[in-house]
Formats: sequence, structure tokens, C-alpha cells
Amino acid sequence: MFKSGSPVGSPDLRNVVPVYQLPLSHQDRDYLVRWARQYRDHDSIWVGSGKLEVAAYREMADPTSQLSCQGREHCQIIEKATGIPTYYYLFRYYGRLKEKWRLCPLCGERWRVASPRGTTKFSQFEFRCKPCRLVSNVACSIGNDKDERLAIIGEPRRTVRRQNSR
Ligand SMILES: [Zn+2]
Repeated sequence: MFKSGSPVGSPDLRNVVPVYQLPLSHQDRDYLVRWARQYRDHDSIWVGSGKLEVAAYREMADPTSQLSCQGREHCQIIEKATGIPTYYYLFRYYGRLKEKWRLCPLCGERWRVASPRGTTKFSQFEFRCKPCRLVSNVACSIGNDKDERLAIIGEPRRTVRRQNSR
């Protein structure tokens, strides 16, 4: 999502927001830039398909991983400083055939964006959970064994699903 520079974007502007323009402390800006670098490192490891491929993918695709938790914390800090709802983009690559029925991995609720692409601020994403401040897309890779096996990363845990089906 962010090849270089700022990891913060605005769906309004369809553009990145430079980190120096965010009303954050010097320390928070510094942490954010370091986090973005770390995210890109994970992305490179995953793309490189070495021994740590799945571990790196999990860090990016599981909202409870250390990398994602830190990213979500940055979102909270930005939201507090700007007063603008700030969502964390959850990466998704491996998926299932019924991908569009995926539930929010944090709360287990439905989070599919109904509006057609390009019609609203959030319609560039297939998924958005307001309370969890999470957006995501339908997986890019669907249909083979590996996709099915790794699709569980980024899906709600069974206990979450059970709680909500009551
Ligand atoms: Zn949620």
C-alpha cells in the first residue's frame, strides 16, 4: 500500500498524507516512520518467499500480530491528534472461494462495503469495520490449496464467531 514515504492516506484525497503534516509529536512521527520501514521489510520477506514467508505474511494479515497492533496504535494516535477517524488497512492475499463473506477478524461482525467502487469514501475497500477501525480487501489469490490453508490468517477466531452467533 505504501511503497515509499508516508504510510498514511486519505480516501478523500486519494493520496498519501506526508508524515510531517500530521499534528504529532516528533517522537510519534519518528515511531511511525520506523513502523512503516518495518512493514516494508516484512513485505519484502514475504515477497521473497523464503523460510519466513508465512511468518511475515501473518504479521501483515493478522490484526492481532505485533506489527498490526503497533499499526493500529498509530491509527489511534493519529485519530486522537486530528479528530479524523483513522482506519488500519489489513493486508489480505490468500483467500477462500467465499471470500466476500469474510467477517471482521476482530469483532466477528459483517463488514462488507455495499457501495459500488468509487462512489463513497470507503468504496475502494471491500471491507470496513467502523468500531474496529479496520479496512481490508478481498484476497488476491483464491482457489488453490495454499490459499485455503493460509486464508485463516485474518479471519475471526472461532470463539469470536461463536459469541456473535448467539
Ligand atoms: Zn470489527
